[in-house]
Amino acid sequence: MKLGIMGGTFDPIHLGHLATAEAVREIFALDEILFIPAARPPHKLHRTVTDEHHRLQMTILATRSNKFFRVSDMEIKRTGPSYTIDTMNELHATFGRTTELFFIIGADSLADLQKWHEARELVAKCHFIATTRQGVDVDFSAVEKFFGASAIEHIHRVTTPDFEISSTDIREKVRLNRSIKYLVPEVVEDYIAREKLYREQD
Ligand code: ATP
Ligand code: MG
Repeated sequence: MKLGIMGGTFDPIHLGHLATAEAVREIFALDEILFIPAARPPHKLHRTVTDEHHRLQMTILATRSNKFFRVSDMEIKRTGPSYTIDTMNELHATFGRTTELFFIIGADSLADLQKWHEARELVAKCHFIATTRQGVDVDFSAVEKFFGASAIEHIHRVTTPDFEISSTDIREKVRLNRSIKYLVPEVVEDYIAREKLYREQD
């Protein structure tokens, strides 16, 4: 079994996340994609990340219509910081060693990969799929040098369609009372309206 992992804050999840996950699933013939909403990440503490149950719920709603998509609350449930190595170990324990894990990351994160906690062990034991936009060049030589020739076979690069969508932009649009139609699934649009998310506090 080949399992794709899509981690993110998903505040909110949008069509860029979903379309990218679906494209990667097809290209790499993955059996399933597991969406794992992150617990409030330390580097995002400068702004208030939306309550975890809302982000989890939106992720569940957004992925429900795709039989290859699943959602896990493992990072939200974990206490303390979430390292990808912990997530990998937990997934191996759950799905068994024969399940190959493919972490999907933005190409910009690829440049940082060597700074991740236990980076070499991580790359030795699972795969990374770095998604790049057409025309965006990522310097791969430093990554190659750090991880070495054999490990680099676990780091895959793929060009995916460019969806000019970000959660930041969606939150801003909602705040300004502008339309987010066709940027998020309808179920997520409805959820945001119903729960009055991303509105200015008064
Ligand atoms: P924010 O604007 O709050 O940073 P975001 O839109 O970047 O949010 P995240 O939850 O931070 O969303 O992203 C989760 C993962 O999805 C990351 O690996 C990120 O690179 C990727 N991603 C985000 N937006 C897109 C997009 N439009 N197309 C493809 N991948 C995306
Ligand atoms: Mg982001």
